Amino acid sequence: MAGQGHSHEQQVEAILQEIVDRGGRRTMSRQAVIRVIVDSHGHVSADAIASQVKKDFPSMDVSTVYRTLETLRDLDIVDRVYFADGSTVYHLKDHQHHHLCCEKCGSIEELPITLLEGVEDLLLKEFGFRVKQRPLGFFGLCAKCAQMP
Ligand SMILES: [Zn+2]
Ligand SMILES: [Zn+2]
Repeated sequence: MAGQGHSHEQQVEAILQEIVDRGGRRTMSRQAVIRVIVDSHGHVSADAIASQVKKDFPSMDVSTVYRTLETLRDLDIVDRVYFADGSTVYHLKDHQHHHLCCEKCGSIEELPITLLEGVEDLLLKEFGFRVKQRPLGFFGLCAKCAQMP
């Protein structure tokens, strides 16, 4: 798994450093928002991010959190993913992947992009279609939920 052996703290630090390296600033709100996304394993709604940041930093304004999310998107650090069921989550943009979304427990697992590379090649060859929006969601039941009656 990506990032294994690294604590969340280190991952947040690395992302903030990347922002600084690109000439951006490291701010308390950026740090707080990135921390929540990393802690949630990368898939979390804007509202969930806002309420968690509010818990960690009671004095921080919710509108600051939403603004920070937009800034982090502009900086190419996070991306917004729209799923077919109408839900929207934010995840780190550091690696491409597809999603396995459980309709029952709401868990989102990452699916390596290489698994579907053949499909994308086929779409290009057979249909001349070039896939751009990679973050894709498959909806169904996760292994745990599928076992429950
Ligand atoms: Zn994702
Ligand atoms: Zn599930």
